[in-house]
Amino acid sequence: MNDFNYSRFVDIGQAVDDLTKKNYAKPIAGGTNLLDLMKYRVENPHYLLDVNRLPYREIVEAPNGGLRLGAMVTNADTAYHSLVEKNYPLLSKAILSGASAQLRNAATNGGNLMQRTRCYYFYDTATPCNKREPGSGCSAIGGFNRIHAILGTSETCIATHPSDMCVALAALDAEIVVQGGEGERRIPILEFHRLPGDTPQKDNHLKSNEIITFIDLPAETYNQNFAYIKVRDRPSYAFALVSVAAAMKLTDNRIENIRVALGGVSHKPWRLPQVEEKFVGKEANNENFEQLAEELLDGAQGFGDNDFKINLAHKTIIRALNEARTR
Ligand SMILES: Cc1cc2nc3c(=O)[nH]c(=O)nc-3n(C[C@H](O)[C@H](O)[C@H](O)COP(=O)(O)OP(=O)(O)OC[C@H]3O[C@@H](n4cnc5c(N)ncnc54)[C@H](O)[C@@H]3O)c2cc1C
Ligand code: SF4
Repeated sequence: MNDFNYSRFVDIGQAVDDLTKKNYAKPIAGGTNLLDLMKYRVENPHYLLDVNRLPYREIVEAPNGGLRLGAMVTNADTAYHSLVEKNYPLLSKAILSGASAQLRNAATNGGNLMQRTRCYYFYDTATPCNKREPGSGCSAIGGFNRIHAILGTSETCIATHPSDMCVALAALDAEIVVQGGEGERRIPILEFHRLPGDTPQKDNHLKSNEIITFIDLPAETYNQNFAYIKVRDRPSYAFALVSVAAAMKLTDNRIENIRVALGGVSHKPWRLPQVEEKFVGKEANNENFEQLAEELLDGAQGFGDNDFKINLAHKTIIRALNEARTR
């Protein structure tokens, strides 16, 4: 039995204060990931700070024409919100491809950003894992690594980030708003999660005393030419082997703007804006999509069981781009 204290907050200042002062305190929202991690004894927080009643439970239009998603809004309420369905259908589709209806009813937007890898060794405390126990080794390198990363890996960790929602947020250029001891700050989604490098225990750049309050979606909506394709072992209730969020703006089939974010292939949603920019002004056709896929996957490396992901990712990118173009 893990002993822990539980408190519920309605005031962000008090929640941040407790997070700062208490030894090994963690926010809990829907609990759909954190409670599993506690049951497996991967995480053993002394204090659970329930953030569900903080005042970030709404979705509102932003003055700049974008949309502000409260961090404590559930994944289900986000995906089915009329403005998300109308203006950000890519996000709605990505969220609805994840987990199950019951889980999405409990899981929150903040928790989804912070969910941890599904690497089997991370959950198995009998095996070495640098993410769980820095310096102990990585059981996936040289072990069974079918679900693992092919891009941005390091010698210490080859885990992937498991979220579908975050892949769409990466394509949409969302910004994460957080509140901490030093006040509010905004983190662009592409800078929120991190690659493992030599600190695989860190999944992202959130400080230990910060709480996510909002996700801001820009005014640019990409609600005409978009696609979210998730390839997985079962048609539901399974994490992505590879997923692709594609969005573009076209004039007479010429690319004005294009975004491609990949899930299931790296420690963070994988997007390379410098590659996308090279295709602006070009025709949206198979030849250019092939070239874009090549460049996005440049340097991809398999570890044995997951070698298939390189080809799978290539094909899924082309499929998603063609679906987005012809929508
Ligand atoms: C069987 C199963 C299948 C799943 N399948 C998928 C899938 O296919 N695709 C997918 O994307 N996801 C999937 N999920 C994961 C699910 O989406 C996440 O568990 C969920 O989004 C986490 O949200 P939560 O509110 O329950 O977070 P919690 O479990 O409450 O918290 C998760 C982490 O976030 C932190 N946290 C929570 N809120 C905040 C906040 N506001 N600020 C700072 N830190 C915070 C917590 O401290 C904790 O570390 C699946 C989960 C399960 C159990
Ligand atoms: S891939 Fe990362 S999470 Fe998985 S065993 Fe290796 S260090 Fe741990």
